[in-house]
Amino acid sequence: MRALVAGLAAGTLLLAGCTSGPDPRPTSDPSPTGRSGLDAALSRPVEDRVYPQVGDPGVDALHYDLDLTWTPATSTLDAVETLVLRATADADHVQLDLEHALAVSSVRVDGREVPASHDGKDLVVHTPVRADRRYTLVLRYAGSPEPVAAPTTRSDFSTLGWTTTRQGGVWTMQEPFGAYSWYAVNDQPSDKALYDFTISAPSPMVGVANGTLESRHDDGGTTVTRWHLDDPAASYLTTIAIGDFRETRDRSASGVPVTYWTPTDRPDLVARMRPVADQLGWIEDRLGPYPFPSLGVVVVDSRSGMETQTMITLGRTAYDTSPEVLVHEMVHQWYGDEVTPADWRDVWMSEGMAMYLQGLWQAQRDHAPARVLMARWARAEPLMRREYGPPADYDPESFGAGNVYYGPALMWDQLRRRLGDQRFWSIARAWPAAYADANASYADIAAFWSRRAGEDLRPVFDAWLLGKASPPT
Ligand SMILES: [Zn+2]
Repeated sequence: MRALVAGLAAGTLLLAGCTSGPDPRPTSDPSPTGRSGLDAALSRPVEDRVYPQVGDPGVDALHYDLDLTWTPATSTLDAVETLVLRATADADHVQLDLEHALAVSSVRVDGREVPASHDGKDLVVHTPVRADRRYTLVLRYAGSPEPVAAPTTRSDFSTLGWTTTRQGGVWTMQEPFGAYSWYAVNDQPSDKALYDFTISAPSPMVGVANGTLESRHDDGGTTVTRWHLDDPAASYLTTIAIGDFRETRDRSASGVPVTYWTPTDRPDLVARMRPVADQLGWIEDRLGPYPFPSLGVVVVDSRSGMETQTMITLGRTAYDTSPEVLVHEMVHQWYGDEVTPADWRDVWMSEGMAMYLQGLWQAQRDHAPARVLMARWARAEPLMRREYGPPADYDPESFGAGNVYYGPALMWDQLRRRLGDQRFWSIARAWPAAYADANASYADIAAFWSRRAGEDLRPVFDAWLLGKASPPT
């Protein structure tokens, strides 16, 4: 997610090549039923320490196939969801998150109709499951989706998930949760899954989602699009947008196909997206090749920006469509999307590097030394830490505050100066590649950097991320 702008003046807070052997990749669980195509989505779900009420560690979702029909005239979503999951333990039920406004009419497990109860957002499917066995659930549901309350004090959003515009369009942003406002999901970061989407909406509306556009056709006044996401994603990184969008194609110097989906009533926004192709090269020079087959940006009616995987979702404000926000959300494709924190305590793992590279890019653009910007951030950061807590031990009601951005960015800057550019960037590149498509913990990242640097960096991580007071810079 993009940062709120901080530290424009001293103390001001404007809220609005590896040196060691390869690290072991997280091991996958064995697959007793085969279906090797879905093995890429095997996860080790945990109960989230910050938001334990969302998600269930008993479920390892592997693939969501979402067939979604949107009728703006009645604000109705009709859905058929096919979910392949692995049970992580023996149990007499499967628990998923789904907003109560969506009424489930039928649940089938491996072809057989089974009973389900739906209390609040907890959808409990009453079927016995065995540890490590895979099951295919087909759920039919319909209703008028509503966004859910966000656990944050940020000024740029207060709700999460499915959001309807005055024109009948739709967009979503859902960090740290809220995907359950539009599909039945294990809505927590430690469970990555593969996705296919089929979106039907009245023309000229068109549905946009993560991944690559497989097909688009007009079926008697209805636009039907199919999207395929080839790399597993956490639920907070999914996106759907439905509206009157113009598609513009572009390509990075490294050959990554890029698409911009901008509202047809804002033709000026296409030019604002054009820096993406060059910026992607600037980031690849530091973090290595872009980790996914394609990149897109969809501009919606929001006032924030979100690193939704392979299809960045941006608000249509001047700041949200600025080059620095584009860099920020692109860096997240490596830090956040390719490697994802296993637990919301570690959102700093994503935001720190996105903020740091955003800052370096801004300094270069402005022909200003990066240390001047870092000094400004260092003056603003202690106040954020005092107000919202240490970056890796923050107040759950203040999700996404400045503390998870600026302190961790300053930590990376300190480590770059300590290790030197060459060592620092080689480790910064190696980390997401070593944990590609997987999740990682605080202990994982601190140990990885220490091992690659050949020195124990854990005291640096602990001081910056868990300390009540800001370390000296
Ligand atoms: Zn961010």
